[in-house]
Amino acid sequence: MKAVRFHEFGGLDVLRVEEVDDPTPGPGEALVRIRASALNHLDVDVRDGTSRFPVTLPHTLGVELAGDVEELGDGVEDWSPGDRVNPYIMDPCGGCRYCRTGRESLCLTPGFISFTTGGGYAEQVVVKARNLIRIPDSVSYEQAAALQVAFGTAWHMLFTRGNLRTGESVMINSVGSGIGSAAVQLAHLGGAFVIGNASSREKLDRAAGLGMDAGINHATEDVVARVMELTDERGVDLVYEHVGGELFQKGLDSLTKDGRLVICGGHSGEVVEFDIIPFFRAQKSVIGSFVYTREEVAKCLELAGRGLITPLVHQTFPLDDVREAMATMQRREHFGKLVLVP
Ligand SMILES: [Zn+2]
Repeated sequence: MKAVRFHEFGGLDVLRVEEVDDPTPGPGEALVRIRASALNHLDVDVRDGTSRFPVTLPHTLGVELAGDVEELGDGVEDWSPGDRVNPYIMDPCGGCRYCRTGRESLCLTPGFISFTTGGGYAEQVVVKARNLIRIPDSVSYEQAAALQVAFGTAWHMLFTRGNLRTGESVMINSVGSGIGSAAVQLAHLGGAFVIGNASSREKLDRAAGLGMDAGINHATEDVVARVMELTDERGVDLVYEHVGGELFQKGLDSLTKDGRLVICGGHSGEVVEFDIIPFFRAQKSVIGSFVYTREEVAKCLELAGRGLITPLVHQTFPLDDVREAMATMQRREHFGKLVLVP
């Protein structure tokens, strides 16, 4: 089969489309014929060697994909060849104290697609059958591939970690990104007042079409002052943060008393200073969030199947054009996911 691999860390030029051996499923495993695989910013960090994940070379990128079950290993009973599936990104151990209490995203010894299996930038992959999630008929492979990281992360951050409730206000940082635009849709669906920010009017207009109630251009406007105006000088109940750098402190300053800031990333500055005094006097919280559960993904796929949320696909590329696809992502001009179609 064809797979996109790199043998050394670096820029776009380290990516090679290579012919590799077809994988075969062992006991409890499924061979999936990949129909679509979405790009994530994590892929750039992994390729550059800055992801802080353990990477074995040569490496095949790609953590989220959709496809058909092609072949099953011994002992798999719940699935059949031809089933349309979206494999869960994690491979939780199932036995640790977190897995046993339904908190598999905290698993002590998790595997991850591409780090402990083959990757999504390929024609086939073998995963554990217990990690497969069914794709509703009305959701395309491209949409399913574009859904998992964005909506799974957003669900886990907003509802599970951030405890967002109907009627609350939320500020979503960088609504033009995949997880930002997914959060706008889910927070709107959950009955929140949704404020979003982005670096351009065009991105804010797109987000308004997804249910954002008010937009702030963080390149030209004072984010905190605008949030206060929009909330009668109260501040928002929840800030959805995944950017880092300056927006982290602005997020903290935009919170109401006893407000929560939930965070899952920091591409614009991974180490930040923050002012401790107003933080504790107003009894605010900072909450970390990492991935999501299999059940949360299944729920989002169901919502997409019923047309209540829409995974956004900006553009699709054949596997051979992987460099162009990654270059497009690195320019950060897209709205929605970039998807490889083998
Ligand atoms: Zn575990």
